[in-house]
Amino acid sequence: MRPYIVGNWKMNGVKAMLAEARAIDRAAGRNPGVDVALAPPATLIGPLRDAVTMIGVGGQDCHTAEKGAHTGDMSAVMLADAGADFVILGHSERRRDHGETDAVVKAKAETALAAGLTLIVCVGETLAERDAGQAEAIVGAQVDGSLPVLADPASAGLRLAIAYEPVWAIGTGRVAAVEDVVVMHAAIRERLMAALGEAGAAVRILYGGSVNAENAAALLAAEGVGGALVGGASLTTEAFLPIIAAASHED
Ligand code: PEP
Repeated sequence: MRPYIVGNWKMNGVKAMLAEARAIDRAAGRNPGVDVALAPPATLIGPLRDAVTMIGVGGQDCHTAEKGAHTGDMSAVMLADAGADFVILGHSERRRDHGETDAVVKAKAETALAAGLTLIVCVGETLAERDAGQAEAIVGAQVDGSLPVLADPASAGLRLAIAYEPVWAIGTGRVAAVEDVVVMHAAIRERLMAALGEAGAAVRILYGGSVNAENAAALLAAEGVGGALVGGASLTTEAFLPIIAAASHED
């Protein structure tokens, strides 16, 4: 399975950041065994698309509807029209800040697929849930509840990736223990196989949460880790390129 390294710029980035994107694009060209992508703020999707040739470009969210009276929102059709090939859905910051439920994530996922986008669906437990021994149950329920119905389930590996992002590890500098990541990725894989049959084996499961140049190699080498969703460390080439290089060694 080709490793997939995705940078989530969140609400960071103005046109001056396109220089970073170009450098990341060149690095992707030097690591052809790795799928690299960036999800900039929606305002930069079009300019970034025009600035790069090797990497994927995606949105960070979309509405459940194709169009309509939803001031300030963005539809999957618009993301695709702006040049996106994928969209991140169900990020914990969206679940927290906008009250997104699994049912909403699933509805967004189905609209995004219909618009021709591929998906990165995020799941992850809070620290309280982990401390209560509920991490697997919570994440399993999020996978079950957020997965879209696929018109062609056999194509799941091409249409969908899951990002396991423990909420307590995002932007905190606290990275999950590799053993815990392995256990959770295996649990997610089981849910994918139950939902999608054999096609579930081809869905990449990314780890996200304070991935950086120092910890990337160990995480990416771990059993069942198909790549990384990277926030803070994707904002500069200096921080992001070593992560792409680490994935290249796992190719
Ligand atoms: C993320 O936002 O998906 C993320 C993993 O952020 P960070 O790498 O900054 O923890």
